[in-house]
Amino acid sequence: MINFEHLEIWFITGSQHLYGSETLKQVDKNSATIVNGLNASKKLPIKVVFKPVVKTPDEILDICVSASSDKNCIGIITWMHTFSPAKMWIAGLKALSKPYMHLHTQFNRDLPWNEIDMDYMNLHQSAHGGREYGFINARMRKNRKVIVGHWQDENVQNQVANWCRTAIGWADSQGLKVARFGDNMREVAVTEGDKVEAQIKFGWQIGAYGVGDLVKYIEKISEAEVDKLYKEYESLYTVAINCKPGGEYHENVRVQARYEIAMKRFMEEGNFKAFTTNFENLTGLAQLPGLASQRLMDAGYGFGAEGDWKQAALLRILKTMSIGMKGGSSFMEDYTYHLDPNNEAVLGAHMLEICPTIAAKKPRLEVHPLGIGGKEAPARLIFESATGDAMNVTLIDMGNRFRIIVNTLDVIEPLESMPKLPVASAFWKTHPNLADGAAAWIYAGGTHHSAFTLALTPEFIETFAELADVEFIIIDKDTKISEFKKELRWNDVYYMLANGVK
Ligand code: MN
Repeated sequence: MINFEHLEIWFITGSQHLYGSETLKQVDKNSATIVNGLNASKKLPIKVVFKPVVKTPDEILDICVSASSDKNCIGIITWMHTFSPAKMWIAGLKALSKPYMHLHTQFNRDLPWNEIDMDYMNLHQSAHGGREYGFINARMRKNRKVIVGHWQDENVQNQVANWCRTAIGWADSQGLKVARFGDNMREVAVTEGDKVEAQIKFGWQIGAYGVGDLVKYIEKISEAEVDKLYKEYESLYTVAINCKPGGEYHENVRVQARYEIAMKRFMEEGNFKAFTTNFENLTGLAQLPGLASQRLMDAGYGFGAEGDWKQAALLRILKTMSIGMKGGSSFMEDYTYHLDPNNEAVLGAHMLEICPTIAAKKPRLEVHPLGIGGKEAPARLIFESATGDAMNVTLIDMGNRFRIIVNTLDVIEPLESMPKLPVASAFWKTHPNLADGAAAWIYAGGTHHSAFTLALTPEFIETFAELADVEFIIIDKDTKISEFKKELRWNDVYYMLANGVK
């Protein structure tokens, strides 16, 4: 459901007329070679489009205005092959509304020791041209990504690719529609937030629907559609005997299949990319959507439980950024600790709704009573997460700004089997350790909910936060609590000056 084949990143090279037409022709040619090289590397998730070198304030303004208004252009890469006096960039950068990156590279990797002369020096000037351009960006307080290194270097290409993925996530964020089935869970603070501010900062359109609106869709689903989807479940999951046709719980599975088809139809018709549910708002539904929510996350929709629209939208964006990468992403909740001092870890799970893209093995489809909310026993997929580097990402509303928090994790195999646990789970070590990681998360006000990913690294989220111009906090192996608390205080002062106090 996430398609970005038609999208483009534009490659814009800065220069000036001082160099003469011969040199400028060479600059153009070199830029085209870099663009072809980046596209041929197969590392980038999106095509980069070469644009002729810009040499005057008008040309710069024109290309920035074009990039801003072009529907397919989702960002630009800027490169100063030569010296491009940066006053020429002021109007263009003021007009530019798309994400951009400063690729601080040089056409040739090595100095040509024997041949180097002043002609060579005058053509290969990014070392100082990039600094002039950097100054005006800093002077204008522009959030932009700076990537340094030779364009053929694999590490540089990977960084460019990651930035392109963040630009894709940003494009997806603009106008991202979230359907809230019901409201937030009553009395819960952290799932609340300023939806108007979220639309201003991230572009999200967040709308609530009565569960009755969904029930109308559910009532229209035919038995034949349910039969077809149930067969798909059989082909993908290990279905418990009592969930199969004729079994005690088969109808409970069919109920979830109906929900899945209906919610998907509802979201397709309304062009929604994420949704929330709330077990307190289920009037007209026999079960909390469990299997249905898991399946829809698997299909690329963002999800937040208990009305948590912030994590729903965030998860959708993580899924968009990481499409085609190894490792899945899921809604997650810090659920239960293992506090053995020699092996502290967290068992993450939720009542039902964990995305099967993170599953280590084929999920089991089972039905168990929920024990909360007073509804019928819901069908759900049960599995354990794949292991590896991961992170929890969360978004909270601090009143005068949004704060995005990342905590890096090592997902490990559970120490023992959990035969009575009727939900999907992930078991992880928190960085820098459980005590400091959890304390930092709590000092920062991080929610119990998060968007969990095995695919992305903190860099993606940091860049995304800069694009939205919101606070970014990282808790990783280097976190020291005393320094971390200072960062929180300093950030408070910064945002008070920038945004005021609420
Ligand atoms: Mn929850």
